[in-house]
Amino acid sequence: MSKQRIAELIDKKAGVFAALNDTIWDCAEIRFGLKGSADALCAVLEGEGFRIERGVAGMAHAFIASWGAGAPEIGILGEYDALPGLSQHAGVPEKRPLVDGGNGHGCGHSALGAGSAAAAVGIKEYMQESGLPGTVKYYGCPAEESGSGKAYLARAGVFTGLDAALTWHPMMENSVWTMSSLANYQIFFSFKGRSAHAAVAPENGRSALDAAELMNVGVNYLREHIIQEARIHYAYTDVGGGLPNVVQPSAELLYFIRAPKPAQVRSIFERVVDIAKGAALMTGTTMSLRWDSAAANYLVNNTLGKAMHANMSALGPVVWTEEELAFARSFQATLDEGVRNSIPATVARYFPGVDQAVLKAMADKPMLDGIVPYRETDQVLPGSTDVGDVSWQVPTTQVFTACYPQGTVSHSWQLTACGKSSLVHKGLIQAAKIIAFTAADILEDPGLVARAKAEYQQRLGGESYSCPIPPEVNPEQ
Ligand SMILES: [Zn+2]
Repeated sequence: MSKQRIAELIDKKAGVFAALNDTIWDCAEIRFGLKGSADALCAVLEGEGFRIERGVAGMAHAFIASWGAGAPEIGILGEYDALPGLSQHAGVPEKRPLVDGGNGHGCGHSALGAGSAAAAVGIKEYMQESGLPGTVKYYGCPAEESGSGKAYLARAGVFTGLDAALTWHPMMENSVWTMSSLANYQIFFSFKGRSAHAAVAPENGRSALDAAELMNVGVNYLREHIIQEARIHYAYTDVGGGLPNVVQPSAELLYFIRAPKPAQVRSIFERVVDIAKGAALMTGTTMSLRWDSAAANYLVNNTLGKAMHANMSALGPVVWTEEELAFARSFQATLDEGVRNSIPATVARYFPGVDQAVLKAMADKPMLDGIVPYRETDQVLPGSTDVGDVSWQVPTTQVFTACYPQGTVSHSWQLTACGKSSLVHKGLIQAAKIIAFTAADILEDPGLVARAKAEYQQRLGGESYSCPIPPEVNPEQ
């Protein structure tokens, strides 16, 4: 009965959180510059009686909204950053930017922020009605896509004292995240040389572009001598100019270095720095490096994950209207053929052992409406998230709810375009209920917290969190 009451409380305010999603979607702000989005979230949470602490950990638009007092303390994580270049008209099934080259919510973080706020308000109202003691804290976390806001929050110690951290992500399926992720460093390598006429006086030039190229060659040889699971990729952020007859006086590369464990990333990073120094020495240039961000690997917590999965299963999937399914189909029609053809294999992976005919019927639906079974795994996603940093400090789990048509690609215009639809509005309320139900389990069952903490300790294996970003590096610099 109690969970039904939580669902009712959240449903009653569904319109508020759909509107909040739409406001954040319209702001479409990136990295740390999230004033409009944070203002909107804080206004709703303050109106619901939460105490707001803004400007946390040196980030103007990071905030903590708290309600209640004492133990247990539950953290709910919200993100609200968009992506550059993904501006798109809402609801239009063809690529049509609102602003050419503008930002857009191509990862659904407008829904993430609003859905987590709905969860925080839902559990708060339930605690008010039932008299359950404890504290709910909504963490407004900037710069997930790039910048690692949560790593700075973790470094500042704001998650200390929490009994659990809960979050979600809008996705194409209903599941609980059970994989780890890679720890990640993001570093700029800058070379400075001397320009000269490349034909008339090449002996006077010292090419920073040569240095960058030699660094990449060196790193490409390094690949043979690092662990299989590591990933290194780079992009040129400065090529030193567009004229071949001017020796390039500057060049810059942004490197991402990833591996399953922070110590492994550290060791590969040190070897990459040596290669960069060698490239500078070879070319008579100078090298400097600048941190962009870093994130820890994600520590899974199956105890909390299973509790969350039980709540998702009890709630059942969202029921879509014919109109919503037609809307989803219109977006599926815009997908590349290869992507569309990959849907049955994805569905088969989610539902192992299920009859072929059933799988085919599921894959044919524009919205995947089953619930992916919980699967304990040692697998590591070859990507990274700054939720990893939180998971090193407190038992953490996250749920995914189906908010987009099957086959939708993350960080695409299609995903931005669906961002203000009822698909997303329903998906974010679904996630809010699952998070709030799990929060209620934590408040009502001390044994669950104890088991989650024991698993967390075991996964730490005697290590403790050390922020991968050096102490002298600050956000927003
Ligand atoms: Zn995302």
